[in-house]
Amino acid sequence: MSGLRECAWCGAYLGEAPDLPAGHVTHGICEGCHGRMMAELKRPGWTGHIQERRADRARVRLLLGLLVLASVVIGAAVLASVLVPH
Ligand SMILES: [Zn+2]
Repeated sequence: MSGLRECAWCGAYLGEAPDLPAGHVTHGICEGCHGRMMAELKRPGWTGHIQERRADRARVRLLLGLLVLASVVIGAAVLASVLVPH
């Protein structure tokens, strides 16, 4: 008796795992899940996600930049109103 190997995605039985003691299960990937996975990786949407996230980060940086700029302008205005005698 030896352990079993099954697909980590769908749980399909992939055969025995002679290196494992009985009752133990190790995982692999079956042909069907491997095919689906490869198709998923080749889809343009896969890198689209990453580009979207990059665009999000660029938007956040822009907002932070505007926030810093706004606080500098407000700070200068406050400073000017304090320094300039009325
Ligand atoms: Zn599978």
